[in-house]
Amino acid sequence: MAVDDHSSMEDRTCLVTGSSKGIGRGIAENLGEHGADVVVNYRSSEAAANAVKDNIQESGGDAIAVQADVSNLDEVRAMYEDVQNAFGNIDVLVNNAGITVDKKFENMTREDWDRVVEVNLGGVFNCTKVCFEDIRQAHEGRLINISSVVGQQGNYGQANYATTKSGLFGFTRTLALELAREGSTANCVAPGFVKTDMLESVPDRVKENILERIPLNRFAEVEDVVSMVTFVAQEQSSYMTGQVLGVNGGMEW
Ligand code: NAP
Repeated sequence: MAVDDHSSMEDRTCLVTGSSKGIGRGIAENLGEHGADVVVNYRSSEAAANAVKDNIQESGGDAIAVQADVSNLDEVRAMYEDVQNAFGNIDVLVNNAGITVDKKFENMTREDWDRVVEVNLGGVFNCTKVCFEDIRQAHEGRLINISSVVGQQGNYGQANYATTKSGLFGFTRTLALELAREGSTANCVAPGFVKTDMLESVPDRVKENILERIPLNRFAEVEDVVSMVTFVAQEQSSYMTGQVLGVNGGMEW
């Protein structure tokens, strides 16, 4: 098989949560370029999500944009119905939607904690719950969870976020075991610091400190993460499951 076969995702339906912008957008567009039917999920950025859908359709894939707050199980169930009507069963779920509410722990409220847990872990539960049977029954279904190097290292001011991102390791490992019998896989991709709106919100002084800790001496481009996710989504990754794949410029953990 070619290393990167650009029709390799034909007949595959892929749901990418939080794909109106940033890393999710890159993943959705790249899966579309590989021929997949792509579900572009968003919470509030409707125009941006429709633009991603249009880009995918222009590049030869098919796509729909569906609004749903992943932390709301009813909305996630409604999204699943929309996907069923448009494309049928889901073969690949990329749990990408995530948020930060950064504060030193001494200033972090229970609400700050709960909001991040609800989206970053509750959203993963909800989306995986509705897609689980599809992924299990798919020929080589794929569950791909987007974690972070912060889940591996911890990070000042991110106790809530780091906890959710390391929580994905146990979740992924367990789902890998529960999907393995049918030949489907579950893996985590753990990016370092990537040039998106999320990084944009970090103060310059903090970004300079982070850069000093990155051996490759640059922040990641969205494409650096996208190519790993597309690899995991494809058939060529079929013997890899339960793994945490770091894409972090050489940061230790
Ligand atoms: P981003 O640019 O802030 O984009 C976040 C995306 O998630 C948007 O499309 C947003 O949609 C969506 N979203 C947020 N809350 C949602 C919800 N409740 N329901 C549905 N969609 C929701 O973020 P990013 O930097 O691309 O990050 C994507 C993922 O990578 C996250 O899980 C993040 O933790 C992880 N990550 C990022 C970095 C980094 O440095 N950027 C590093 C490691 C890991 P709307 O705009 O419509 O709300």
